[in-house]
Amino acid sequence: MSSITKQIQFVKSQIADYCQQYHREPHAVQLLAVSKTKPLSDIAEAYACGQRHFAENYVQEAVEKIQQAQLSDWQNEPIQWFFIGPLQSNKTRLVAQHFDWVQSIERLKIAQRLSDQRPEEMPALQICLQINISQEANKSGTDFEHVFELAQEVSKLPRIQLRGLMAIAQKFDDPQLLDESFSRLQQCFDQLSQLYPNIDTLSLGMSGDMGAAIAHGSTMVRIGSAIFGARN
Ligand SMILES: *Cc1c(COP(=O)(O)O)cnc(C)c1O
Repeated sequence: MSSITKQIQFVKSQIADYCQQYHREPHAVQLLAVSKTKPLSDIAEAYACGQRHFAENYVQEAVEKIQQAQLSDWQNEPIQWFFIGPLQSNKTRLVAQHFDWVQSIERLKIAQRLSDQRPEEMPALQICLQINISQEANKSGTDFEHVFELAQEVSKLPRIQLRGLMAIAQKFDDPQLLDESFSRLQQCFDQLSQLYPNIDTLSLGMSGDMGAAIAHGSTMVRIGSAIFGARN
């Protein structure tokens, strides 16, 4: 068995354990495999053991992999591609043309461009709003004060579908602070999902904070290094 296969099985068993520990339904938390900087051969190994959801951060690198993947014999069960990196205006067209999801929306302008540029023959682009839960100036994302307004505007756009929220945890020394920031995010997510019936995705948790994320209602964990190994 390859190490990627073993790691995926291990991560899935951890997710199942946390679901049990925190009284979540066994399939309430999806695994999103973060394949940034990793070759298509690594994605192929993960695909072979059933993984279908992959996330990328860099547009050019991702589009190359997506195009290669489209030439493979995976088309009966195609990969769903998620964009999770910072997104500049000049890259929105490529993202609109190649991805199924974008989880890193922090401004209306970017959402508008994605909606305008989404090809007609493709289904609506699924999106999450990224929240800067730590309120650090150097981190991406909108804040708790502006997210409702942004959701309202974004939900009017014809070619994108608002599905939820995404956040990256700050590295706290004190686990209590992580808990507090995740609780606040969970509350915000619950309020939004009452306003918008299509909202069902809280993308929270990475290799280092998966347990706390699942305890706070995450429906999708984004796991890179614990599956594919450290990045250079
Ligand atoms: C790289 C990245 C991940 C994966 O991080 P790991 O610590 O390798 O699991 C998750 N989310 C985002 C937004 C990332 O950029």
